[in-house]
Amino acid sequence: MESPQSADPYAPPQANLELSPDHANLIRRQGKLIVVKRDVPLPERCVKCNRDAQGIRLSPRLFHYHWWLTLAVVVLLLLFWPLALIVALVGRNSARVEFSLCSIHQRRRQVFAALALVFLSLSVVVPWIGFATPAIDHDVTIGLGIMAFLIGLVIAAVRGQPLRITQFKDDRLHLRGTGPEFRESFDAL
Ligand SMILES: [Zn+2]
Repeated sequence: MESPQSADPYAPPQANLELSPDHANLIRRQGKLIVVKRDVPLPERCVKCNRDAQGIRLSPRLFHYHWWLTLAVVVLLLLFWPLALIVALVGRNSARVEFSLCSIHQRRRQVFAALALVFLSLSVVVPWIGFATPAIDHDVTIGLGIMAFLIGLVIAAVRGQPLRITQFKDDRLHLRGTGPEFRESFDAL
């Protein structure tokens, strides 16, 4: 999107990402958070353990729901869920964040994603088995299905992305989820 300075595809990645002083100034640590200017890519080190990431680069779009938006969505969910969905989609903030993971942490991320998928699949399959089998109590299988759905959702929300945006402020993102070794490599804010 609007990232004219950071998006030169011909720049050597090492020089671009292994932090010139100017670039390092755009990334700071603050307690357990990393504060980074929007559209500034993080260096090519694993954000969890600070090891060489061996070229595993991710640039997911991360979403941020302000607390009042979360509250509004919960209230609307009880009243009329389609409206809650629309408010959540329109009201959330998002930014693409470019970072690296080592192979170990990349694999860990994939395991959690697969686990979330298994639970979400079970939330459909278990009630379906209930309906297809007259001897089984439908209420029980529907209950189990809802439980599997919620567990899958929580795993996806908590472990689906290595980094989470906790705050948008003055075009700066506050990111949670980095390891201490990675954070220590930046100056405190
Ligand atoms: Zn790692």
